[in-house]
Amino acid sequence: MAKRSKFVKPATRSVATAEVVANKRISPTFIRITIAGEELSTIAPMGADQWFRIFIPQAGNGELRLPSAASALWYAQYLRIPKDVRPVLRAYTVRAYREAGSGLFGETPEIDIDFAFHGDIGPASAWAVSAASGDKVGLLDEGLIYNPAPEATWQLLVGDESALPAILGILDSAPTDLRAEVFIEIPHPDDKQEHPELGGVNVHWLVREDPQAKPGVLALETVRAADLPTGPSYTFVGGEQALTTGLRRHLVNDRNFAKQDISFTGFWRVGHAAN
Ligand SMILES: Cc1cc2nc3c(=O)[nH]c(=O)nc-3n(C[C@H](O)[C@H](O)[C@H](O)COP(=O)(O)OP(=O)(O)OC[C@H]3O[C@@H](n4cnc5c(N)ncnc54)[C@H](O)[C@@H]3O)c2cc1C
Repeated sequence: MAKRSKFVKPATRSVATAEVVANKRISPTFIRITIAGEELSTIAPMGADQWFRIFIPQAGNGELRLPSAASALWYAQYLRIPKDVRPVLRAYTVRAYREAGSGLFGETPEIDIDFAFHGDIGPASAWAVSAASGDKVGLLDEGLIYNPAPEATWQLLVGDESALPAILGILDSAPTDLRAEVFIEIPHPDDKQEHPELGGVNVHWLVREDPQAKPGVLALETVRAADLPTGPSYTFVGGEQALTTGLRRHLVNDRNFAKQDISFTGFWRVGHAAN
């Protein structure tokens, strides 16, 4: 049998530019930035946890310099951009994609991005607060990390607030007969978002009551103690690195899950900037 590829890559891709058309605080933690532009039509919407690299101009510098290559060369090109104008590079998730003609703000395609605001210490988080209509960004589509094997009879989806857009995107695209246990840790009860009500899916919202608590610990401890279904499964976990590595270790060592049935991605790490 052919080996299943770990990720689902986009069929084609290019570096697309877009501009901010809306900036809305949708909950205590989340800022929804909508970007739009003709070039977003080069990104084929794949649903689920589709993610992309975003290039954001440095603070105080509206100039956007981008790599031109979308092949493996793009990163070398990016590093050749002089430091004082090199854009900030981060990873984010498509929370919603609206094709040309079905947008909320105009005729060109639109993408909603939900930024988990964590203060001004990160350039992406700080940018989201002040992003204004007309501000330009660049995007490079990366496709999906979520890639369940057809044999899985149920799924375990776990994340902190940084993975909320990915997990809700997965539920938005899920077949109606999906069986899943979903654990999403959020800083505030009002950060909950609507999701499709699927008969076989239990969504557990975990509110981190203590603002000093390390993100991800509550989710990890809750899943450790949970009564989970049995049978062939697929796990998707994203969030602070200790959550993702800790959960994988627990599932493999204590519950005998097969390593290849777990997609675990450190979305960020306490005390470390993304690059
Ligand atoms: C595939 C993928 C998809 C992602 N999708 C999303 C998404 O849709 N929405 C989203 O909000 N994030 C998402 N992330 C996470 C996001 O890329 C990181 O949080 C990123 O580090 C934020 O960049 P920054 O410039 O704000 O902070 P950085 O400059 O990277 O970090 C500065 C400081 O902020 C801390 N920090 C970083 N992120 C967080 C956080 N979430 N909470 C608390 N402290 C933090 C760091 O530890 C560091 O001390 C995704 C990551 C990946 C890999």
